[in-house]
Amino acid sequence: MKSDTHMRADRVAQAVRAAVEADLVGPEAPVAGFIDVDGVRSTVRDLRTAFEASPVLHAFAAKACPLVPVLRLLADEGLGCEVASAGELAQAVAAGFPAERIVLDAPAKTQAELWEALERGVAVNADNLDELKRLDALVTPDTVSVLGVRVNPQVGAGTIDAMSTASPSSKFGIPLNDPGCRDELLAAYAARPWLTRLHVHVGSQGCPLELIADGIHAVYQLAEEINANAGRQQVTSIDIGGGLPVNFADDTVRPTFADYVAVLRDLVPGLFDGRYTLLTEFGRSLLAKNGFIIARVEYVKDVGGRRIAVTHAGAQTATRTVFMPQAWPLRVEAFDAEGRRKFDRPLSQDVAGPCCFAGDMVASGRELPELAEGDLVVLRDTGAYYFSTPFSYNSLPRLAVHGFRAAAAETVFAPIRSSQTVAEIVAESGAEHRDALRAG
Ligand SMILES: *Cc1c(COP(=O)(O)O)cnc(C)c1O
Repeated sequence: MKSDTHMRADRVAQAVRAAVEADLVGPEAPVAGFIDVDGVRSTVRDLRTAFEASPVLHAFAAKACPLVPVLRLLADEGLGCEVASAGELAQAVAAGFPAERIVLDAPAKTQAELWEALERGVAVNADNLDELKRLDALVTPDTVSVLGVRVNPQVGAGTIDAMSTASPSSKFGIPLNDPGCRDELLAAYAARPWLTRLHVHVGSQGCPLELIADGIHAVYQLAEEINANAGRQQVTSIDIGGGLPVNFADDTVRPTFADYVAVLRDLVPGLFDGRYTLLTEFGRSLLAKNGFIIARVEYVKDVGGRRIAVTHAGAQTATRTVFMPQAWPLRVEAFDAEGRRKFDRPLSQDVAGPCCFAGDMVASGRELPELAEGDLVVLRDTGAYYFSTPFSYNSLPRLAVHGFRAAAAETVFAPIRSSQTVAEIVAESGAEHRDALRAG
């Protein structure tokens, strides 16, 4: 029997071929994103199995893939949704998540966003003491929202600074170890019996599991202290955030959700003894390996001794990879114009994007079968934070995104998001105000 790993790679190859046949990529559609529906379902199953014995709500971090049909798929799978803006909240509601499965976390929530969350019964994690004061004015005896506070356990940074949310000076949450802060937190809970949750999200890609578990341990201990002070179990749930790193090097899933739970059980056993309901907020680890981008090679050129394949996937869709290539390397795979994997002898090539700046490269000096005009490159593991979070440089359109199921005989596609049209680009760039700056 084939392993899950091989099955995923086979599904990708089958889907690339089928996408060409269905004209979802080609000269008229030079770049598109794809989501493997069975892959998503199987990843959700792995997550559920890993936490099986505990009372838990898994809330998908919407920002990793804020596309309504994808959120709908996850809602159908029984997940919740973690949102961080009015836009993400509206997307979660549109996808059909019930309010009690939505949690609002954000560092700059406005008064109106807080009001809407409480009005809907959406859970809120306050980021700081000033936000708690705003909540004081909104909470009534009828409030059903679960309310908590985000704590920064200040356990340190991982290998990517921009992804490390629990460093000593991170902008998120209330720092636990700064002078006076622990006492302020204890007093805040003592004064507000409606605070029943603690939240921590140590960070994302680049954070070792032990670092994440250390942060959760510190917050677990704080929950125990709050409850001891209260003489009752005031904190009933702990939101442990997301942040499981993803392996971008090959098709194996590592670490797995099961690896993570094993580390947590070891370092924070009290989390699993049934006294606390757990909330998780995974994003990248649920979607990254279940999506990819196909881009057409428009031209191939030799410049200063470098071979460059100019493709249609660059900073507008692989934004992080282009701007931080060391932190976010992606696998690039070569296919021919008919969507068949190329096996030619590898040649060192640069894979460039369509944007007008020299650094718009998704890979440099990469050994790949020689690419030619009309071939396709596939950027793997891009299901989270890539085609779903476009960067509108050069007024390039937002990519179309398609879902697929690779059944035995055929691949079935479903539209997730249409490509932005040129007319939409013009409309969204202020066309309605065309004459606003004219004299008079
Ligand atoms: C971004 C974010 C997540 C998801 O992080 P991943 O690394 O995608 O799992 C979860 N919780 C919060 C508060 C976040 O900001």
